[in-house]
Amino acid sequence: CGIVGYVGPQNSLDVVLEGLRRLEYRGYDSAGVALLTEGRLSTAKKAGKLANLEKVLAEEGLPPSTIGIGHTRWATHGGPTDRNAHPHVSADGTVAVIHNGIIENFAPLRAEIEATGIEFSSETDTEVVAHLLAAVYRQTPAGPDRLAEAMRVVSRRLEGAFTLVATHTSEPDRLVASRRNSPLVVGVGDGEYFLGSDVAAFIGHTRTALDVEEDQVVLLDRTAGVTVTDFDGAAVEPRTRTVDWDA
Ligand code: GLU
Repeated sequence: CGIVGYVGPQNSLDVVLEGLRRLEYRGYDSAGVALLTEGRLSTAKKAGKLANLEKVLAEEGLPPSTIGIGHTRWATHGGPTDRNAHPHVSADGTVAVIHNGIIENFAPLRAEIEATGIEFSSETDTEVVAHLLAAVYRQTPAGPDRLAEAMRVVSRRLEGAFTLVATHTSEPDRLVASRRNSPLVVGVGDGEYFLGSDVAAFIGHTRTALDVEEDQVVLLDRTAGVTVTDFDGAAVEPRTRTVDWDA
């Protein structure tokens, strides 16, 4: 339902929670965040209002972080429970992913993943993406394009509608995102980058936006900035616009 991502100098939890608050108008049944801190992943997720998540965060106190993702969920596959809330983490603990939309072919993908011995921890269609991305990443040659390439391979295998945003513990300064039939916008700030299901997610921070188009993958890198490709890896020239909107 609502998607937020952040890479930059600020406290990512503050930026992500602010974005989720600004997306609340869309409606949701649960919420969660995943933060990267020096390549370690920490997550918190909770059914119900953002206040429930904020209570857990206050109790657990996640480590300080400058790269993170957050989600408000509108359940389609699996009830609105803590376990089904996003982000979903791969069985090996390397990947955290959030998703808007529906993965139509999740059942055969789930069967294929379960056949490798992985146990699922939710009833969502989304969780297949976490395990797939972790597995494909392991098989992808090292280099600055590895995370984006793994996301492209995974995206080509998915049917349905999706906006996906993912982090990987081996990529402490990057976020990757992908979309098909579901919206995704990048916010470009001064040395900081945002992802949102709509511009409301980051309008408090920047008015420079880049609309990600159908079947494209975006890599946000703390120093290299924004790179966009299609699902086959062909470079796309990112075109920014100024958001004319009273926040
Ligand atoms: N299909 C996913 C789920 O049920 C995502 C729902 C959404 O768009 O929030 O978890």
